[in-house]
Amino acid sequence: MRAALHQAGETALSEPLQYAVPALDQRQLPCPCGYHAQYQELRSQPVLTVLGPAQLSRPYYLCARCHRGQFPADVELDVKETEVSPGVRRMLAMVGAEVPFDHGRQQMKLLADLEVTTKAVERTAEAIGEDIAAGEQKEIQRAVQLDLPMVVSKAVPILYVQMDGTGVPVVKKETVGRQGKTEGQPTHTREVKLGCIFTQTTWDKEGFPIRDPDSTTYVGAIEPAEEFGKRIYVEAWKRDWSHAEKKVVMGDGADWIWNLAEQHFPGAAQIVDLFHARQHLWELARRLHPNDEINQKA
Ligand SMILES: [Zn+2]
Repeated sequence: MRAALHQAGETALSEPLQYAVPALDQRQLPCPCGYHAQYQELRSQPVLTVLGPAQLSRPYYLCARCHRGQFPADVELDVKETEVSPGVRRMLAMVGAEVPFDHGRQQMKLLADLEVTTKAVERTAEAIGEDIAAGEQKEIQRAVQLDLPMVVSKAVPILYVQMDGTGVPVVKKETVGRQGKTEGQPTHTREVKLGCIFTQTTWDKEGFPIRDPDSTTYVGAIEPAEEFGKRIYVEAWKRDWSHAEKKVVMGDGADWIWNLAEQHFPGAAQIVDLFHARQHLWELARRLHPNDEINQKA
């Protein structure tokens, strides 16, 4: 039934995707170079839609001066320089963000009965990722210029900013020219910095604070501490940091975290989180009592 309905959908789609030859008075378009582009012919291209593969045929315009070609219909349909419809791109972004790209390809087949290549999943996910990153950069730049919109909401009783860094395995080309942890050895990981912002309004019976469910928002990037500082500052601002009654920064013992805390979150209570504190304590105990588990534990 699904295959049959896809078939019917493809047939239904084929009509609106067949553009007519433009009328005589519509055969010229302005060209970005200042000259104009002239209608040439109808050109055909496959487009993968949520209903399956379809064929798009639309007018092609060419500028005689700068030789730049144009497909106005592609802009209208949001398929400029891609053979994947916006609907399919949304699906690809979804599966590409959740699972490895090849699993994404399999999910597309299973869930939507669409044949895509692993590369298509990767390309789409990365293109959308770049788009998101560009939007974030814009926002970060505005924050640096102190041009953020005011957040108006009820004051948060306790707002937490937490950050950490961890190594993620990467392909070789990502580590070219980077020093590994061991002198002279190439590194196989890059440090990704992660941050989260959350609120807390309640405590459990034993007095331990409880993170408010669904209150956490996240940021993350492979970038220097200075850049990451701006990123997490913007996120904290969006969460109304400036109006929080109690402010807390949590992290491990790394210098960069406390430098960022001083710089972007001055006056906040600084807490080394329990997990890392335990880790540090264990490291200390192991150094104080090498090969002596009883005293380490004590
Ligand atoms: Zn031109």
